[in-house]
Amino acid sequence: MLAKIDRKNISKKFAIFNSLLKKKKLVYLDNAATTQKPNKVINSIKEYYSNINSNVHRGAYYLSNKATEKLEYSRVKIKNFINAKYSHEIIFTSGATESINLIANSISSLIKEKDEIIIPYSEHHSNIIPWQILCKKKKALLKIIPIDYNGNLKLDYFKSFISNKTKLISLSHVSNALGVINPINDIIDEAKKYNTLVLIDGSQAISHIPINIQKINPDFYVFSIHKMYGPTGIGVLYGKEDILKLIPPYKYGGEMIDKVSFEETTYSNLPFKFEAGTPNIGGIISTIDAIAFIEKYNIKNIKTYEDKIINYAIKLFTSIKGIKIYGEEKNRSSIISFNIKKIHPFDVGKILDNFGVAVRTGNHCAQPIMDFFSIPGTIRISFAIYNTFEEIDYLYKIIIKIIKLIDRF
Ligand code: PMP
Repeated sequence: MLAKIDRKNISKKFAIFNSLLKKKKLVYLDNAATTQKPNKVINSIKEYYSNINSNVHRGAYYLSNKATEKLEYSRVKIKNFINAKYSHEIIFTSGATESINLIANSISSLIKEKDEIIIPYSEHHSNIIPWQILCKKKKALLKIIPIDYNGNLKLDYFKSFISNKTKLISLSHVSNALGVINPINDIIDEAKKYNTLVLIDGSQAISHIPINIQKINPDFYVFSIHKMYGPTGIGVLYGKEDILKLIPPYKYGGEMIDKVSFEETTYSNLPFKFEAGTPNIGGIISTIDAIAFIEKYNIKNIKTYEDKIINYAIKLFTSIKGIKIYGEEKNRSSIISFNIKKIHPFDVGKILDNFGVAVRTGNHCAQPIMDFFSIPGTIRISFAIYNTFEEIDYLYKIIIKIIKLIDRF
């Protein structure tokens, strides 16, 4: 049965919201960095180490089989959550960063001199540097899709420079620095005309926007479990079966082999070919509860709720003289990036901290876009299911106080 999104009820499910922090109630607005974890997820990790702890995929005994069963069920749960075709298209990694690095390494053999890779201007460093390194190594060209002052991609430019030389396009579903939702469907449609692979970084979409992978139809979709109410240290790489079969692994060792001799080694089938070494078993198992938490409220209802909060916050903040909000007003998800006149974002973050409000300040691992706006960084607030309209009112009042204080000097 679907549960109603009601803060009182939801907070009870998170230990962190049930105690005071420096004598203040925590107002947590840094969900784009990582979400808080429900008690059920924390308990699931404890349960694994207390009662199931053993290694997976290699034991003949009860505990190992149980751990393996649960780990594989987590894979199925993720497959169903994003509506992938097969569970062997779900590869466990350590995070979105590793998922992107995996592809950048593994597709290396498909890239030749003078080939091209395209990324937008507004990407997280983890979706810039792996491609920069790959292009350098293969003498290929990294092309950048420019953005306008609302943070929207300039699609006409993109269409003018994509060609048969373009081997891969990699872009975020939602920009972590601005919250702008990128036109991934248009990009994928265009890419298909040139047989170009597309990787979508879903880090900022996965717990906010319903994902139907078969409908979106990218070649790869990556995300981190810690941004969807699960633990840190686990990521997902979704890849289409045919392309995952085609490309080689990038990590080598136990778990991923079929036969090893000193003359030759052959690899396991999917998904194990990409999963060398012992994974974060307890964390992966607890992901079952993280997804169950989202499903309990329904991702569509979460989106509707978060959209209402974000629209409310934008309306309030745009009414304040002295605030500059970055990024498209309408086409955004779960993130607002802004600055207050004459005051460094870091100082605002420190003042808010004194009021119990946790926000992120800085360049958000997206230096090129900060350079584009000629700013050192922004104050970023980002939402999850447990945030409330009252918290926005509280933040609004503190910001008014800060601005009044600045105006006195
Ligand atoms: N891409 C985007 C858009 C992100 O927001 C982040 C995290 N801030 C990452 C990639 C990297 O995620 P992780 O550190 O979990 O690997």
